[in-house]
Amino acid sequence: MPELPEVETIARGLRATLSGRRIVSVRLGKTDFLDDPAAVERQVPGARIVTVRRYGKFLLLDLETVDRAFSLLVHLGMTGRLVISGARAPIPRHTHVRFALDDGRELRYTDVRRFGRMGILADDAEESRLGSLGMDPLETPEREFLALFEHRRAQIKALLLDQTVLRGIGNIYADESLWRARIHPRRLGANLTPQEIGRLYRAMRKVLEEAIEARGSSIADYVDADGNLGGFQRRHRVYQRQGQKCFRCGARIRRAMVAGRSSHFCPQCQRAPRLRRKPS
Ligand SMILES: [Zn+2]
Repeated sequence: MPELPEVETIARGLRATLSGRRIVSVRLGKTDFLDDPAAVERQVPGARIVTVRRYGKFLLLDLETVDRAFSLLVHLGMTGRLVISGARAPIPRHTHVRFALDDGRELRYTDVRRFGRMGILADDAEESRLGSLGMDPLETPEREFLALFEHRRAQIKALLLDQTVLRGIGNIYADESLWRARIHPRRLGANLTPQEIGRLYRAMRKVLEEAIEARGSSIADYVDADGNLGGFQRRHRVYQRQGQKCFRCGARIRRAMVAGRSSHFCPQCQRAPRLRRKPS
């Protein structure tokens, strides 16, 4: 599933080539992942794309017509792709939405499993409803990051994946950040020292920035706005490296279920929390 660096890469790619373009027409295929297909068909044709932004793992295409401004919200789900193509380029299977642009190209949404989502945000009020999402890790000052985890009696892995705590982090970047910070995914937020949370803060920012620079991680379906693969999967330190040697200490990387997700960590550099003794 695309996470913050992948969605940011797509947003930047789309922004660079779509800003100022007009959407001439919309063609829909399967529509079960659209909030309101008729609204998309009615409102989007003729609109100009002002810019493209990332919000957590959402893409927002800011659109305007002569009399109003609104946004098209896109979530790529598990297997969604949003790619700019020449109008004559063969249409891949599972292409469900085609936006024809005024320069002859098409913006195509392809999604094998259709766990994605697309809809219209009519105004700021609707956008602020997305605001129940947590903070963007790249925009959070260290002091506020610290406050997110102290007193939280949940496992740090679960807290990192919780989109109401931080928006945009998923399984890959949670595991990679925890390895860099040398924190076991089962540790409880409340039991982390301020030093450890500080390490996690710096590790996470670094991982995300490096991943954006490498144009994201291509594990399964992710491609950028031009249809190219990302490169950060080659720099993963733990994710899907179970059984291989830790780059830091040489121990074998392990995989275990934590917070309902398969989690990758080094048992040596990321010490498991001590089990609390049963009261005798
Ligand atoms: Zn290690």
